[in-house]
Amino acid sequence: MQIICCVCHKTKRYNGWAKQAVRSGVQLSHGYCPHCYKQMIERVENFFVMSDCRKSA
Ligand SMILES: [Zn+2]
Repeated sequence: MQIICCVCHKTKRYNGWAKQAVRSGVQLSHGYCPHCYKQMIERVENFFVMSDCRKSA
């Protein structure tokens, strides 16, 4: 099974993440590469900071 980043469509390889053609028949698991994961976390944190501001206002 191969992990593919659902944002940038890079696949995980033994030496890191790279864009590459995925062989047909390979089972794909959608996830996040470290780069997109970090961006996603930052977005989620911003969202919670914003909702905290609204609550205290
Ligand atoms: Zn990615």
